[in-house]
Amino acid sequence: MICYLGLGSNLGNREENIKNAISKLSSDPDILLKTRSSMIETKPYGNIVQPDFINSVIEIETDIPAENLLSKCLTVENELGRKRNEKWGPRTIDIDILFYGETTVNLKQLTVPHPDLHNREFVLHSLNEICPDFIHPVFNKKIEEIYLELK
Ligand code: ADP
Ligand code: MG
Repeated sequence: MICYLGLGSNLGNREENIKNAISKLSSDPDILLKTRSSMIETKPYGNIVQPDFINSVIEIETDIPAENLLSKCLTVENELGRKRNEKWGPRTIDIDILFYGETTVNLKQLTVPHPDLHNREFVLHSLNEICPDFIHPVFNKKIEEIYLELK
């Protein structure tokens, strides 16, 4: 399964946090790193005053179920010292599952495609860099189209 993960950091050494998260994920035997986008600096999303983020998106290949992939992402967040405070608040690392192939997942703890990705310009910008032709399985539109519509 080809999956896309969104990474973000706005505490500590932000680039280093993203790099460390990517190397931890790619050292997992169940995860093959295929592509990574550039890192971009973005303004915080939501209404909390906090430092700017560094964001990046990676393409991975995996055969494990989406719930297991989420557990691995949460483990890496914890290993990198993420504390869960306010929703959308500052974080050393955030790892979101954007797409799990063209599969939709609707569990209490996991919604895929990520339910807000089409509203976040920085996510679409990075996805558009590495997979403009990927089709969003809910909207049935290419990333490129969704990105251009939002801009
Ligand atoms: P956010 O990323 O929205 O700021 P958090 O990173 O604190 O929030 O995640 C809170 C919870 O969101 C996670 O524990 C996870 O169970 C849930 N979640 C639901 N859908 C997803 C997804 N697609 N990717 C990552 N986490 C998700
Ligand atoms: Mg998250």
